[in-house]
Amino acid sequence: MSSVKNILLVYPQVPKNTYWGFQHALKFIGKKSSMPPLGLITVAAYIPGHINVRLVDENLALLKDSDIAWADAVFISAMIVQKDSFERVAALSKKAGKIVVAGGPHVTSSLEPIQNVDHFVLGEAEGVMEDFMQDLEQGCAKPVYRAEKRPDLAFTRTPRYELLKLKSYASMAVQYSRGCPFRCEFCDIWKVYGNRPRVKPAERMLAELNALHALNWRGAVFMVDDNFIGNKGQVKRNLLPALIAWQKERRYPFKFYTEASINLADDDALLESMRHAAFNEVFIGIETPSVESLAETGKVQNLKTDMAKAIRKIQNYGMEVMGGFILGFDSDTDDIADRQIAFIQQAGIPRAMVGLLIALPGTDLHERLVREDRILGRSDGNNVSCAAANFKTRQSPEALQAGYRKVLSTIYDKSLKNYFSRCNRVLDTLKENPHAGRRIKLTELRALIGSLLRQPFTPYGWQYVKFIARNLLKNTGSFPEAVKFSILGHHLHIITRKVLADRPMLEA
Ligand code: SF4
Repeated sequence: MSSVKNILLVYPQVPKNTYWGFQHALKFIGKKSSMPPLGLITVAAYIPGHINVRLVDENLALLKDSDIAWADAVFISAMIVQKDSFERVAALSKKAGKIVVAGGPHVTSSLEPIQNVDHFVLGEAEGVMEDFMQDLEQGCAKPVYRAEKRPDLAFTRTPRYELLKLKSYASMAVQYSRGCPFRCEFCDIWKVYGNRPRVKPAERMLAELNALHALNWRGAVFMVDDNFIGNKGQVKRNLLPALIAWQKERRYPFKFYTEASINLADDDALLESMRHAAFNEVFIGIETPSVESLAETGKVQNLKTDMAKAIRKIQNYGMEVMGGFILGFDSDTDDIADRQIAFIQQAGIPRAMVGLLIALPGTDLHERLVREDRILGRSDGNNVSCAAANFKTRQSPEALQAGYRKVLSTIYDKSLKNYFSRCNRVLDTLKENPHAGRRIKLTELRALIGSLLRQPFTPYGWQYVKFIARNLLKNTGSFPEAVKFSILGHHLHIITRKVLADRPMLEA
């Protein structure tokens, strides 16, 4: 008979004050976190129904002793960037005498021993969770369970969304595919999930959306795939027609955003379908305008296209393009910071996430740098900070830092003039999206009031007032989007000032 009756799922705290956390914008809309822990609620779907399950997301409230006391076993999942809080949660749980189970990218890719964990569930959980749960209940669980095969996503279960405090999140999350057909040198996605993207059948996806809809979720849904169009044929033929019909039938309850490779711009039919399914934001790994650096890192899809034109085309389909940019490639020349700035401004990318190249364990980049004896240490997973790169860069650390600071302090300058000018560019194109214009909702009204009371009196107040006035007159139909950009700007402003104030940790 099992002694495991209560399982506590814990998502450790993600470090605050990062670009991706958006916590300074979330305050305006009364939310605590931008995203739910999708991995943990997916794992929860494999816990047998007779076991009680609770979830603590430390990004809403920190773990309490009473939470741990309730549990027989504590399941923790974390990304590399959550390493420190993962260790705290594992230590507290172990000290309380609980069975500690760990999974997720941090433990799966760690090269160092991890303390205070009884059982590791490594790789994609679907392949091993049933065996693990059976063994755990029978009291004979092994120390390590590693998924040997990549599971067929047709047989995955619907994540247990009902475990979430939905109202605390700005967005929900679903996953359609895993894997990517490209082989960028710095990326571990294709190594971990494979080069042949696996997708869920449309009816599986709709079942997940139905679950969210039944829980009364309305608004943003992040399609968390690393490359949503990794299997373009399936997305076009199977998923999007079903998604469009589903949205239409329910009068468009969700707005989607996702990540995709830049070859999205090659396909008008795909862009048109995404627009009709109400995709309004897409993150694209642009990385660098330097063809030499793109060639070095194997980003072939970016080399094959005119990136500025491709971005403009996607924007013309009514989608905001968010961009990832990297400094620190071996082929970067001394003018790379200026070239990055010029590209970001001209392409009109409001949310440009600029980071230093980091060598993650398990990537081709890491292997090459080990061979070249250039690895300096393990990255903390946060490439958007003023810490130095985790390898010996070709540029001197001082030059790299100076370039990085120049990019950040220009694209998010103190007055936010450059940021708001990029936002204007995007807002002028959003009219093209039939789902961008909408009546202002209660949360948005609350955000607008908070924004008007606060943002005019900030260091960027004058640019903010001009931006709001312009778009109230010119882009009335998509004015809620202007409010969104305003409060996002507040976050980007605060984080940039904090990042720039950090003392860089340069290698001697
Ligand atoms: S396109 Fe994106 S997900 Fe695919 S390998 Fe390159 S960086 Fe990774």
